[in-house]
Amino acid sequence: MVNEQVPERRNATLGEYQEHIEARLAIYSAWVLLTALVIYHAFHLGFNGGELTSIEIYLRAPVVAFVLLTVIARSTGFPRWPTRYLLKLTGISLIFLVLAQLYIYASNVPGMLNQVPQGLILGFFVASILSLRSFQDWVLIILVPVLAMALIAWIGNSLSVELAAILLGPLMISLINCLLITFIQRVTIENFKNYELAINDPLTQLLNRRAFLPLFHHDHSRAERSQKPLSVVIADLDDFKQVNDTWGHNAGDQALREVARRLKDCLRKQDVVCRWGGEEFLILLPETDSNGAMRVAEKCRSSVSETLIDIMGHGHTQTISLGVATLTGGESVEELINRADRALYSAKKSGRNRVELARVTAAPSSQKADNIPDIKSFP
Ligand code: GH3
Ligand code: MG
Ligand code: MG
Repeated sequence: MVNEQVPERRNATLGEYQEHIEARLAIYSAWVLLTALVIYHAFHLGFNGGELTSIEIYLRAPVVAFVLLTVIARSTGFPRWPTRYLLKLTGISLIFLVLAQLYIYASNVPGMLNQVPQGLILGFFVASILSLRSFQDWVLIILVPVLAMALIAWIGNSLSVELAAILLGPLMISLINCLLITFIQRVTIENFKNYELAINDPLTQLLNRRAFLPLFHHDHSRAERSQKPLSVVIADLDDFKQVNDTWGHNAGDQALREVARRLKDCLRKQDVVCRWGGEEFLILLPETDSNGAMRVAEKCRSSVSETLIDIMGHGHTQTISLGVATLTGGESVEELINRADRALYSAKKSGRNRVELARVTAAPSSQKADNIPDIKSFP
């Protein structure tokens, strides 16, 4: 179950994951709201012989404006506001719309409040789903506007028991929604944290081997299907035993964390790096041929070795050796990793702090040894 989710979520943080969910909610609800408004108007205009009062236009304009802004922001990336703010603005404008219409109705047609449109309940329901993420949200977005409207009605002598009773239902619905949403959010965060614990290596916060392998198989099948290149890089810290022996295990851990951070910084978003074993890392480079993979590996090598790593106040030069392999037709995930591993071994034998490209060994098909040279090394 956990592993099946990996290909979709890759390196997403909790914040990114929540934003992703909110953005989807925003897009769906924006279209639902727009469609509902159009249908409502079609009915309304049909029954009222084409009448649309200017006050109705003013009240609906903010909802339409924020819905359109949400669609534009999520489709074009501009403005770069977090989706939850766009949803809150839409929710507030919706509450404003339903309360203002209720007030107009209450002041113009006293005693007829039982004919208040079902839109009141629906409006509260939609606004609370869209914009409530906490009890404070409920107070600010729902309770305060309702109290403000009740105050205005009281000052204008239109506040009645009937009006207060009508508001109670939607208020309760929105409060229940708020509690449900808060509960779902807590469960989601809890699940995400458990999921993170299951897939991440606690020391480096990189993916662990168990979570990485399904990703690898996923990209391997895709590469085979699409005939696009796929490369892997195995990196191993040089003479790392000495770091532990000289400064102790905690210092070694500190160096490992820093190397992991630097490796991650060298990669694109679609690349994945995992802690493969003790002081070994495996990097997956989708849609990357051997030349591209050699460049990435060399960038990783220089990023680790060129700046001193601070270990307990000492500046330490840590180097890594890397083996690179690019998928050839018919090759399995295990065979590809083995070839990268042999290239790594070769880099170690040639003096460390270098990158080696794996030679194509097997002859699985006519695609053998296309444009990949036997061995290439950096620096
Ligand atoms: P080489 O250049 O040949 O790779 O030499 P090396 O000393 O790095 O290689 P070797 O495989 O002999 O030693 C790896 C060391 O990495 C041994 C182990 O103590 C250390 N190591 C593995 N995992 C961890 C860890 O999580 N924390 C720390 N501090 N050290 C670790
Ligand atoms: Mg080592
Ligand atoms: Mg090792």
